[in-house]
Amino acid sequence: MPPPNARRLLAKELAAAAAAYQTAEIIPHCPGCSQPCCKLETLVLDLEWKQIKTLWHLQESRPTFDKALSCGKGPEEIRESGGRYYVHGKPCPAYDDAHGSCRIYGQHLKPVGCTDFPVYEDQGDLIADLRCEAVDLKALKARIATTLGPAFRITQSADDEFPFLVTLSIKKQGNRRS
Ligand code: SF4
Ligand code: SF4
Repeated sequence: MPPPNARRLLAKELAAAAAAYQTAEIIPHCPGCSQPCCKLETLVLDLEWKQIKTLWHLQESRPTFDKALSCGKGPEEIRESGGRYYVHGKPCPAYDDAHGSCRIYGQHLKPVGCTDFPVYEDQGDLIADLRCEAVDLKALKARIATTLGPAFRITQSADDEFPFLVTLSIKKQGNRRS
């Protein structure tokens, strides 16, 4: 296993490569996407109270909202669990369907999960979520290989439970004697 500093550096490089890939390949595809993630048909949005209150323009207090939700009188697309709110089955209120864009792009209110989707660094690995039609694993691996150079090799594996989540693990190539 590489020393902590090397691991941190690698994680930083992977995060930067993921962000660059999103900028170059994913974001330009979004306006014409045939299955926008923001419609929340296949994805679940994980939000905190402040985001729920703002995006749904709620006037009531949190306890009042939670009580209504638990009685089935709140927005049907929202479920509360452990102090978080999970949204699924209806488009995100911040989604601009006409332009295929996010109205809170670049704002603090935008969930981190949205910024990370569909390619992000996680504990030294790169995760690619194939629920996004713009992800091209071959091109992504080629980009990472170019970024890291020949000293590293990339292995690919899919999650057993959620096979659309692909992990790209980076390993340092062993030293070779000539
Ligand atoms: S699924 Fe991918 S391409 Fe489609 S809107 Fe979401 S991020 Fe953009
Ligand atoms: S916050 Fe923006 S990016 Fe996230 S689901 Fe809503 S519209 Fe999409």
